[in-house]
Amino acid sequence: MKLCRFDDNRLGLVEGDQVRDVTSVLDRLGPFRLPLPAYDPMIAALDELKPAILEAAKTAQAKPLASVRLLSPVANPQKIVAAPVNYRDHLAEVKDQAEIHNNIRIKEIQTVGLFLKSPGSLIGPSEPVRLRHTDRRNDHEVELAVIIGKPANKVSKADAFAYVAGYAIGLDMTLRGPEERSFRKSIDTYTVLGPWLVTPDEIGDPTRLDLAIDVNGEPRQRANTADLILSIADLIEFASAYYTLQPGDVLLTGTPAGVGPVVAGDVMTASIQNIGTIQVRVDAA
Ligand code: MN
Repeated sequence: MKLCRFDDNRLGLVEGDQVRDVTSVLDRLGPFRLPLPAYDPMIAALDELKPAILEAAKTAQAKPLASVRLLSPVANPQKIVAAPVNYRDHLAEVKDQAEIHNNIRIKEIQTVGLFLKSPGSLIGPSEPVRLRHTDRRNDHEVELAVIIGKPANKVSKADAFAYVAGYAIGLDMTLRGPEERSFRKSIDTYTVLGPWLVTPDEIGDPTRLDLAIDVNGEPRQRANTADLILSIADLIEFASAYYTLQPGDVLLTGTPAGVGPVVAGDVMTASIQNIGTIQVRVDAA
């Protein structure tokens, strides 16, 4: 199942180049009172919603995907957890380029741990990334994004995939400089998620997916998730050893070599095997 959020917060089931509007299913989520859930209620209920989504899709209006505005498939993640330098070839690249490492000694992910990006930085692929501090280098990072489906606390890697709701393409946009990672990477619009959530039954083997990003048609990053230093299961074990992952939390698994600058006017085209492609414009803020 491929599920998107589109236009004015509508829920869509993606079939080929069409989207079926199954927004009526969201009525099942019910009213909320304070405190609002500290997780994404749609993702939390996804297993129960799936039969209703398939039923609603039978009679739902279909629209061309090309005619809708795609939002982040997760509306309200509590956390965006991200892996720094998690491909060997990118580790070598970072150590090699002063512009990327800024004379901060680069340690391996097992030592430095993971980091958090503000959920406030999250957008969908139809919205442009709006660059700030354009006098400095702003880079693209394409990453496989894993969306957590149920509360995951101290999960072992053997059980990790039972906690996954689905997968998407993630862009971890990055302002280069000496500040803390979380500060530089949490700028409004600096996390892109899309084009939809692909459920585990349709992803094939998530540990063997090709990923790529081009800027204005020029190839920049090419990799396969088989080359991750910490695997998807390792990352879920690592993150959940520190905090409970909630339904809708997004895990950005890290980026391979080939990170490079973008400027206003650029168009980024990112693809991940068995997920799809997003085209994201770059603007100045
Ligand atoms: Mn990254």
